[in-house]
Amino acid sequence: MIQKIDHIGIAVKDLEKDTKFYRDVLGLSFEGYEDLPDRGIRIAVFNINDVRLELIQSISPDSAIATFIERRGEGLHHIALGVDDAAEMLAGLVRNGVRAIDSEPRKGAGGSRIAFLDPRDTGHVLLEIYEKSRDGHKRK
Ligand code: ZN
Repeated sequence: MIQKIDHIGIAVKDLEKDTKFYRDVLGLSFEGYEDLPDRGIRIAVFNINDVRLELIQSISPDSAIATFIERRGEGLHHIALGVDDAAEMLAGLVRNGVRAIDSEPRKGAGGSRIAFLDPRDTGHVLLEIYEKSRDGHKRK
């Protein structure tokens, strides 16, 4: 079951510069930076009334974010739908003919389980199915 919009991901080239805008100009609550080396990205995390906003910068030339920015430029990258069971949600969607980028949920930030759907089936927005860690979301 979909519970909420968990977070919105925005692809940027200069994480420090854009963090200044969201933290210092907009005044959003800043939770910190997190490196996800296996996905080749570094993120800056903000919280707006329990919905996160993530700025995503590539730290590897062959990351999905590097490819995205090369093709489409900076900007809105994905919307993550918070669900109670990512595997069950994904299987149900696939049974209904929705194409998925990930055939099974994989490990995301903070012990979460995530899977991306194919934008051709979602109005050309990259949707992420997001199940937060059952031990609570810990961020350093
Ligand atoms: Zn995400």
